[in-house]
Amino acid sequence: MEKFNVKCKVEKNERSYVIADDNIEAGEEILLENPILITPNWDSEIRCSNCFRESNIVCKKCDVFPMCVACEDHDSFDCEFFQKAVGFSKNLLIENFSVFGPLKCLMLLENPEKSTVASEILKLPSFTSERRNSDIWEEHEKNVVGPLMQSGLPSLLKTVKVDSELIQKICGIIDGNSFEIRNSSGDSVKGIYPFANNLTHNCTPNTMMAVGFDLKMKIISTIPIEKGSLVQNCYVSPLVGTGVRQHLLKNGKYITCNCDRCEDPTEFGTFMSSLICRACFESYLINKNSAWICISCSCEMPTTEVNEILIDANNDILDADGDIRQMEYLIQKFSKMFHPNHYLIIDLKQSVASILRSICTASLVPPGKAVMDRKIQLCEEILPVLKVIQPGISRLNAIAMYEYFVPLVEVAEIDFEEKVIGKEKYLEILTEAEKLAKESARMLLYEPVNSPEGDLAQQVMQHVKKIRNRISKI
Ligand SMILES: [Zn+2]
Ligand SMILES: [Zn+2]
Ligand SMILES: [Zn+2]
Ligand SMILES: [Zn+2]
Repeated sequence: MEKFNVKCKVEKNERSYVIADDNIEAGEEILLENPILITPNWDSEIRCSNCFRESNIVCKKCDVFPMCVACEDHDSFDCEFFQKAVGFSKNLLIENFSVFGPLKCLMLLENPEKSTVASEILKLPSFTSERRNSDIWEEHEKNVVGPLMQSGLPSLLKTVKVDSELIQKICGIIDGNSFEIRNSSGDSVKGIYPFANNLTHNCTPNTMMAVGFDLKMKIISTIPIEKGSLVQNCYVSPLVGTGVRQHLLKNGKYITCNCDRCEDPTEFGTFMSSLICRACFESYLINKNSAWICISCSCEMPTTEVNEILIDANNDILDADGDIRQMEYLIQKFSKMFHPNHYLIIDLKQSVASILRSICTASLVPPGKAVMDRKIQLCEEILPVLKVIQPGISRLNAIAMYEYFVPLVEVAEIDFEEKVIGKEKYLEILTEAEKLAKESARMLLYEPVNSPEGDLAQQVMQHVKKIRNRISKI
């Protein structure tokens, strides 16, 4: 049974929240929870009901649920229920796969062994009044409510009284409360974790969540949490600027965030949303009370103009379509328009760094020094920003550190062999790399063993050994 760390307590007013009932250290497990419901995204292709791999063959027994060749069966209650179902359109899922999540939720409620746990889903906020008659509401009406109501299911269910209101409520619960997670085949699916859902949002949270291939969610504290403080999670990417984060939170989760980062127009001095002032060309614009003002010359830029610049820049990134030369060109172009830490530039730099990584791992011959030097430079520019927006234990930081120390060691080795650097400098770089590798490993050790990050932790440990070995031989 899922339980919070004894040092946490769940409180409720309008929405529930979690508070530290005692001092919590960094790295403590806050919660370990199994999902109640896993569902593919609304627009997903047809997937196996058991493992969510793409598949469009159906279970031979019930003729309703999609299954893949690797899976022998799916939920036995669901299978037996539909084997006996008379007057039910068996093509429901094949023709309207969007109904999967709400259908599974109804079946959980109908299943006597699971209904108590499943009823927790219905206690989550559904945002019905905010959503009624909105675009998303109409979309669910057409793709989910209609097909489910017409399938014959409502009259077959004995314990659940199904109407369009209940189905919309379930859709709202899935949209507003599910966590985007990766399953074992690396696909993105949604999971409902009612306990984890109690944590309120903060753009610089004091916890992080990790989900392994078993889909268990682990939440750990990333920094020390003082008794009486809120225990919080972040429900959007911290790598985007305040405007984007607030938009995503408002539209997806119905949250208005006024955390310290959102309230600080410099975003803790990172200037992640700032543009270069077009009047003095020396300083940066920050968003203060919905106006964009230069911090030096106080000149203003109309919000509509800022928005147009952002739309154009986003279109440029889309047009680049993953082409590394185009992205490098955009980094140059954007550097004349935005602060070097602007989230669009950081995003491009991360993409370029990840392409360079695949070049390094895919080629049989060692990548040229220029490739590694560029990777080092990108990481040196990205890391300070990550450290500010994700202090403490951070997966993003750990991965960026890994991306950084690996080429650092390789370049130093080449330089030492070619006598570009002497023994002393070589030792200095290796010592620095060892420090980074250890720090990266320390953070990754909190990741579930059965996850890509868990695998990375093992790789980093190997690197630590290798670096130590090199140091000992100098
Ligand atoms: Zn399967
Ligand atoms: Zn079946
Ligand atoms: Zn915020
Ligand atoms: Zn200015």
